[in-house]
Amino acid sequence: MSDIRDDADTATCTDVQLSGDGFSGDSAWERDPATGRPRPPRRPFKARGSFVERCEGCRLPVLNCLCPYRVAAQSQSRFWLLTHPLEHNKPTNTGRLIGDILESTEVFTWYRTAPDATLIARLEDSRFAPFIIFPDDQPDYAERVVNIDAVGEAACTGRIPVFIILDGTWRQARRMFRKSPYLDHLPVLPLHSDRLTRYHLRKPASASHLCTAEVAAELLRQSGDTHAAATLDDYFDAFNDSYAASRKHHRLESPTLAMCRLLEQRSK
Ligand SMILES: [Zn+2]
Repeated sequence: MSDIRDDADTATCTDVQLSGDGFSGDSAWERDPATGRPRPPRRPFKARGSFVERCEGCRLPVLNCLCPYRVAAQSQSRFWLLTHPLEHNKPTNTGRLIGDILESTEVFTWYRTAPDATLIARLEDSRFAPFIIFPDDQPDYAERVVNIDAVGEAACTGRIPVFIILDGTWRQARRMFRKSPYLDHLPVLPLHSDRLTRYHLRKPASASHLCTAEVAAELLRQSGDTHAAATLDDYFDAFNDSYAASRKHHRLESPTLAMCRLLEQRSK
């Protein structure tokens, strides 16, 4: 089992294509030893990600479809994703994995000029206790910063804690935070974690920059939803390994450990 996983991990570290949905075409071509020029692999493949046949359910290449591993989990807290429009259609976006595991998740598109009407209504709904997830590294909103204990305290008052995650690049998230006046009154919850990213479909600026699904898993874990956290982590790992293998036009021969745990949950 671990051999499969190691293989998938190593295969992705070397030449991951960083730009959105395109597959790394050149890496899959063998080189002709005589001329050094690339030559087509034995199996036919499509060089660009947009031509890859994708599963309608999980949007991953059908070669390693993620659907068999999708498991529903329960959590005390919810997630509302405020997703940058440029992030929405990227197959490498991990925000959508949260909704696959936690049905109550809602996704809103961020536009600088017009806030989403449903999101505004949610923010005004007193059943919810929303927190905006953002670093506490600037002084001008220091009085809004809370720690993870505030989540449990909100739940004790009978409200549903909600984590609002700004889903985009680091730069997009900063812009969304600064240019969304309807978020200005919300408590700011920074995620403090020693965890290093396991995401290998895009190159992070730093190993401590977690992708959206990892941020969600950490928030769940730190706020006491450990089972949902572990399930989301496994599903994220399954996504990571499936996608990375497909980029190499490689079909995973058997499920990874994370996949096996998800299959076991489904069979219960
Ligand atoms: Zn699928």
